[in-house]
Amino acid sequence: MAWRCSAASNSGLIDNLASAHLLTTPRLISAFKAIDRGCFSPRRPYDDAPQALGFGATISAPHMHAAAAESLAAFLVPGAKVLDIGSGSGYLVAVFAKLVVQGDDEERGKVFGVEHIRELNEAARERFTAALGEDGERMLADGDVVFRTGDGRYGWPGEQFDAIHIGAAIPTVTDALLAQLKSPGKMFVPVGSPDESQYIYEITKDSAGNVTREQKFGVSYVPLADSHYYYARGSTIVPLTRTSDVGL
Ligand code: SAH
Repeated sequence: MAWRCSAASNSGLIDNLASAHLLTTPRLISAFKAIDRGCFSPRRPYDDAPQALGFGATISAPHMHAAAAESLAAFLVPGAKVLDIGSGSGYLVAVFAKLVVQGDDEERGKVFGVEHIRELNEAARERFTAALGEDGERMLADGDVVFRTGDGRYGWPGEQFDAIHIGAAIPTVTDALLAQLKSPGKMFVPVGSPDESQYIYEITKDSAGNVTREQKFGVSYVPLADSHYYYARGSTIVPLTRTSDVGL
């Protein structure tokens, strides 16, 4: 049960996700252990629950981050190119970077995050370097990791990716987004609107370019919407609170 995964530390949380078989791939477990969720979640970072970031956005619950990474695991390998749409806190960008940005210049992977709220995106960059230190600064300086402020409904025009994660719900997956998936490649996306049921879809493109869509499980995500929708919900970032301040 997802909520039973809450813990008092990052490693405790990841151990609980692994014991619940929500994280099963050893190299994913190592990456999640290496990225402290405490650098990204303003409140109660090791609770298995979403937390407010400000502007109506949330950092998703740990069990959802685990499900997304496990779903995309075969494509989150050193050298892969990954897109995170609605990157919010920047947490998954950091986990993906840990997995793919490895090796020599030519073969090093890339992780691109696109988030439309500038304030959140600037905070995400800072959270990223707080979590990854000098490695993180180097990834940003070399362009291996890029946080772009923009409308994620268009994806990242002109690029193709081995894996695409979408962190907010969309009514339908457009052909333009599908075209940004490599052959082979995989997308993890919540589909639906806030008023109706939403489901996670796994969309896979095989090496011949054939696309298959699989409906997985019901979810509740904020929408991939116009930025006005978010600016209408507040205009301050929830500041990071030190773990010791919240009595964990
Ligand atoms: N995976 C992120 C999820 C953040 S919530 C995390 O765990 O931190 C979803 C995010 O999508 C919010 O930050 C919201 O601002 C962003 N978003 C919503 N609509 C968007 C759009 N059209 N373009 C880019 N980002 C969008």
